[in-house]
Amino acid sequence: MSIALISAGSNLGDSRALLRRGIEELQHCAGEVLAISSLYRTKPVGGVEQPDFLNLAFTLRTELTALALLEKMQAVEQSCGRRRLLRWGPRTLDLDLIAFDKLQSADNKLTLPHPRAALRAFVLVPACEIAPDFALPAPYGIMAAPADIKAALTALISRDPECLNEVENIGSLNG
Ligand code: AMP
Repeated sequence: MSIALISAGSNLGDSRALLRRGIEELQHCAGEVLAISSLYRTKPVGGVEQPDFLNLAFTLRTELTALALLEKMQAVEQSCGRRRLLRWGPRTLDLDLIAFDKLQSADNKLTLPHPRAALRAFVLVPACEIAPDFALPAPYGIMAAPADIKAALTALISRDPECLNEVENIGSLNG
């Protein structure tokens, strides 16, 4: 049995409903959802002009391998209408595997911990709410040493104190 930390985002369609549906579908095919963060309204990164995102993080207990879980996540993205037009562009549902137990993987198909998680307040702020102690093992990504979500967020804020302005807590997903 493993614990996965997953980040979810949407800025196309009925984002709140898509996030709810994505979590439900993943729960049916991949395991038991343990905790879901608040919902956050966040500014897009990557320079493409597009609407704000809704983001959240959740933890999932699963018997799947990390790769099998990623494949289920991609199937759920597809079932929620995901189209890849622009790399950093708008999307109906984006699911990223941030960490999976303390697994490290440098594979392009599955990099763990997620290589850009430590750079993104929209990942770390929701994740810190539900799993501050979740391990982010080094050396992949930008972290030089093993850390946890709380330490990664503290480091991001000290590098970029403005980053919290881009991430607004708007309450519960079901609220
Ligand atoms: P994205 O545009 O964020 O959905 O990127 C998806 C691509 O990143 C897919 O080809 C995945 O195989 C790859 N990928 C590598 N590591 C991860 C990860 N930790 N979580 C999600 N996708 C990943």
